[in-house]
Amino acid sequence: MKRIAILGSTGSIGTQALEVIKANPDTFELEVITANSNADLLIAQALAFKPNVVVIANEAYYEKVRDALQQQDIKVYAGANALCSVVEIGTVDMVLTAMVGYAGLLPTIRAIKAGKQIALANKETLVVAGQLVTELARKHGVNIYPVDSEHSAIFQCLAGEFHNPIEKIILTASGGPFKGRAVEELRLVTKAQALKHPNWDMGAKITIDSASLMNKGLEVIEAKWLFGLKNEQIEVVVHPQSIIHSLVQFEDGSIKAQLGLPDMKLPIQYALGYPQRLKSDFPRFNFMDYPQLTFEQPDVATFRNLQLAYDAMGQGGNMPCILNAANEVAVSAFLQDEVGFLQMSDMIESCMAKVAYIANPSYEDYVDTDREARVRTLELVKK
Ligand code: NAD
Ligand code: MG
Repeated sequence: MKRIAILGSTGSIGTQALEVIKANPDTFELEVITANSNADLLIAQALAFKPNVVVIANEAYYEKVRDALQQQDIKVYAGANALCSVVEIGTVDMVLTAMVGYAGLLPTIRAIKAGKQIALANKETLVVAGQLVTELARKHGVNIYPVDSEHSAIFQCLAGEFHNPIEKIILTASGGPFKGRAVEELRLVTKAQALKHPNWDMGAKITIDSASLMNKGLEVIEAKWLFGLKNEQIEVVVHPQSIIHSLVQFEDGSIKAQLGLPDMKLPIQYALGYPQRLKSDFPRFNFMDYPQLTFEQPDVATFRNLQLAYDAMGQGGNMPCILNAANEVAVSAFLQDEVGFLQMSDMIESCMAKVAYIANPSYEDYVDTDREARVRTLELVKK
C-alpha cells in the first residue's frame, strides 16, 4: 500500500487523482486531503474517502469543515502552516502536489525534507526554485515523479534508459485556443474564449497559461530541473491534436515518444503507481480517429510569454521566480477583467526588468523576490 497525501484535492488534478485512488483500493490509501476554500467538496471527499487528516487552507471555513466531520475519526486543521505540517506525518509515503501556484513551494520543500516521495503537478515550484528543490531532493534521497503530461511522457520514454545521455527533449504544445491568431486579434480576446481549451479540461490559471503559451514556458523550465538539462537541450513543437505527449532524442539520434488520448488520469496514475503500470479502463487511442498528426513551429513573436520564459531561464537566478510571480498576478487580473490578454506579457516583461536580479538566491531571496514582483505587477494592474 502506498499512503498518499493530496495537496489541492478539490482541483482538476486533485479530483482526478481521487478517481485513480478509488479505482485502485489495493494499491493506494488516502491519508491527507487539502483545499483552499472549496469546503463543500472537501467535506464530501472526506466523507467518501475517510482520510486521517483534512486541511482547509482558508481559515474562514475551519468551523464549517470541523462541524461537518465531527462524527468521523478525521483530524481537521486550517491555515497555510497546517499544509506544511501534514506533509510530514509519519503515515504518508508520497505527496501529490496538486495545488496551484507559488503557494505550493513551501509545502513541497517540507515534504522533501521529511523524506516523502513527490508526485509533482505544481510546476510553479520548479519554475520558482528548481535548483534549490532538486538539490534538496537529491540530498534527502527523494524522487520527484512528474505529473504534468509532457514530463510524464519524457519520464516514460526514459524508463530503461536512465544510463543513456539525452541529446534533447521535445515538448509538445497544443497551441491553445488562439493558435494561428495574429497579435491584433489577440488584443480583444475575452476570458471566456481563453478559458475554452481545445483538448484539456483544467483549472482556470493553467488554462489561461495555455492560451498565452506561458504554460509551455513554465514547462520548459520545469523540464530543465526535472531532467537536469541544459537550456539548449529543450525544444517546443506545436502539435494541435495533443496525442504525442512529448519526445526524447538520444545520442544515437533515436527518438522515443509517448502517445495517448489527452487524459490527465494516466500521468497521475503513472506518477502515483511508479514503477508499476496499473491496469486501467481509460479510453484507448485509435489511430483511425486521428489520421493526421500535425506539427508547427511555435509563434513566439505573437505569444511572447513563451519567449519571456526562455529569457528568464537563460538569465537564471531569481528571474524565473520573477516571471512566475508576475504571471500569477497578471493571470488573476485577466480573470477579473482588469487587464487585457496582451497586457499580461507587457506586465511580466516590465516586472522582469524592475525587480532586482539575484544570481544565487537562497530560499529567503525567493520569498522576497516573489513578494516584490507581486507588488510591482499589482502597481501595473492599477495603472
Ligand atoms: P485547480 O485550480 O483546479 O485546483 C487547485 C487546487 O489547489 C484546489 O484544490 C485549491 O483548493 C487548491 N489551492 C489553490 N490555492 C491554494 C492555496 N493558496 N493554498 C492551498 N491550496 C490552494 O488547479 P489544477 O488545474 O488542478 O492545477 C494544479 C496544479 O497542477 C497547477 O500547478 C497546474 O499547473 C498543474 N497541472 C495541472 C494540469 C491539469 O490538467 N489541470 C495539468 C498539468 C499540470
Ligand atoms: Mg502540461
